Amino acid sequence: MNKKTILLSFSGGLDSTVSALKLRNAGHLVTLGYVQWNIPGSPFGELQKKAAKSLSEVLDTPLKVLANVEAYSHAKWSWVQVIASMILWEASYPIKRYDAVAFGMQVTGCESWQRVEYTRAVVENNAKVVNYSGELLFPVDGLGRQEMWAEVPNDMKPLLWCCNIPNQDGTRCGHCYKCIHDRNQI
Ligand SMILES: [Zn+2]
Repeated sequence: MNKKTILLSFSGGLDSTVSALKLRNAGHLVTLGYVQWNIPGSPFGELQKKAAKSLSEVLDTPLKVLANVEAYSHAKWSWVQVIASMILWEASYPIKRYDAVAFGMQVTGCESWQRVEYTRAVVENNAKVVNYSGELLFPVDGLGRQEMWAEVPNDMKPLLWCCNIPNQDGTRCGHCYKCIHDRNQI
């Protein structure tokens, strides 16, 4: 198998963790490209950072912090575009630093605009904008959350952060779509 150097868009959540496991287990050299996503007044950013750092250690895969975003309310609806453009920009210059860029942003069971097809279209269009002409990979395309959880080793499961609207004390909200889908997993 062809060993590739891959930049993976990584958040410390389920989709990107399973993507990292699949790529690493296939023998590729993976760098976790991380965009720190801060939501004023919410512990979201800190929880995500803690998850990303601890998972990168367990995965023994380097974490590269690419940006620190203050996501005010008007911006949060375009997070797929923001992250895709930052990851692809990182992979664009110098050209050929990475053989491939991978995205595991698979927002299923959510609003219609956040489907897999949407993510793929955003990624492909952003690649044109930043002149990224390398390979694009979508390692978890077609997998549901139950199938993805089955890929995560049990000792790694508590490290993942999967809640969109955490409580102020850092606990999961229990009612966002991720909390509902993941109820029997964590
Ligand atoms: Zn939640």
